[in-house]
Amino acid sequence: MSAKAGRVSVPLTMWRGVRLSCPQCGRRTLFRAYLKLNQACPACGADFSRSETADVAPYLTTLIIGLTCMPAIVALALNAGEATEWMIWPALGVAVLLALVLLPRVKGVLAALLWRARREM
Ligand SMILES: [Zn+2]
Repeated sequence: MSAKAGRVSVPLTMWRGVRLSCPQCGRRTLFRAYLKLNQACPACGADFSRSETADVAPYLTTLIIGLTCMPAIVALALNAGEATEWMIWPALGVAVLLALVLLPRVKGVLAALLWRARREM
């Protein structure tokens, strides 16, 4: 199936965003740097110039990290006794690492959904 000819479903669009791939052709061309979107896909020409997500991606990433990691870190801090100081820093490190891994994926999903919405206008 030609990606240009057919519509891309919402789940496939989101999955390609998670994979940092072009929502139209599926090649890994959505970003040119860690958080910099390409203006257009070098492979198929899909236009990403109006797919910037502003601050929504960091907000959502912070929300996800806050909802998943912080309860565990607080529980760890409350129950670790004297080992709290030694256990809290690796837990915070994991939270930061998770944020760095999640941020481009969240941005990829949002940019892919914006691309899809604007394509249908
Ligand atoms: Zn493409």
